[in-house]
Amino acid sequence: METKLFTASDDDIALAGEIIKNGGLVAFPTETVYGLGASAFNPDAARKIYAAKGRPSDNPLIVHICDKAQLSEIAESITPDAQSVIDAFMPGPITIILKKNLLIPDAVTAGLKTVAVRYPSNETACRLIRAAGVPIAAPSANLSGKPSPTDVSHVIEDMTGRIDAIIDGGRCDVGVESTIVDFTDEPPVILRPGGVTYDDLKKVVPTIKIDKNILRSIGADEVPKSPGMKYKHYAPNAEVTVIEGEKENVQRKIKELLSDNEGKIAGVLAMYGADYDNAVILSAGESNKEYAKNLFSALREFDRLGVEKVYAEFCEKDGYGLAVKNRLYKAAAQRVIHV
Ligand code: AMP
Ligand code: MG
Repeated sequence: METKLFTASDDDIALAGEIIKNGGLVAFPTETVYGLGASAFNPDAARKIYAAKGRPSDNPLIVHICDKAQLSEIAESITPDAQSVIDAFMPGPITIILKKNLLIPDAVTAGLKTVAVRYPSNETACRLIRAAGVPIAAPSANLSGKPSPTDVSHVIEDMTGRIDAIIDGGRCDVGVESTIVDFTDEPPVILRPGGVTYDDLKKVVPTIKIDKNILRSIGADEVPKSPGMKYKHYAPNAEVTVIEGEKENVQRKIKELLSDNEGKIAGVLAMYGADYDNAVILSAGESNKEYAKNLFSALREFDRLGVEKVYAEFCEKDGYGLAVKNRLYKAAAQRVIHV
């Protein structure tokens, strides 16, 4: 299949909207990561998303809207806590889980009776949803198992020949996927940390909890609240190890690991700005917010450079820390050294 590369011009967005209306697939930028979109009311189109990504069929999609009024087309009801979060954080990098209504096909929710809804703040995303005239079901626009795409080049790499079109929106601002909060449970639970932090949410929903599975791996026989939790996401080809702690200890440990590296090509994802010998060094930035923005592109870059072992410096410093840690620990398959 030929994959068209669109700009964010009015003409291109109109064409992209037509593709979605006609049951096709379009990758588009959002403030978090790129999404791979299809009409949320078209089960055949939703199924094409799973095929294009190689996504397991039990991992549901997020329905994207461009107007709060569309919530009633998707959800059966909105709880008072959910309404507070909608008022405070939408549009923005947050996804809410509500009871679904009958218009949303099972192919979108992977058979669940609940639906994930998000209203992105990215203007191109909103213009596309408006042009399509329907809510857009979309997971991240990467091949399943690869880091989520935070730049159009990542989408081109993964999706060329597999989908109808890609809209070029440059680099994504937040860089990690949306915060997911489940409002079908009491109290509401954060299923995935992201750009809207626990502290932000606690101000609006004081009872909110964080799911215990956020920082651990899920056993094969467990059924997590969010199907996505059980998949090995965000994994580069390189073996990643997280070295977590304060600057001096982290740097000393990484130097020690680099000196005994079995001749492998090594890389360091650096937040402390260290100069290591014999390693490809990529900067994660100083704050956890910058780390979130740089993480996925750095993991892809290490792969591109043929790095075989990556040591990631990490320390939780601000509200984005939990979101970074969640992705890093998964990328490292829980190989974490605390120093
Ligand atoms: P992605 O946008 O690629 O991160 O994929 C969407 C994420 O939302 C996956 O982790 C899904 O498991 C999660 N998700 C979508 N719908 C639901 C739902 N109804 N309940 C819980 N998690 C959901
Ligand atoms: Mg994804």
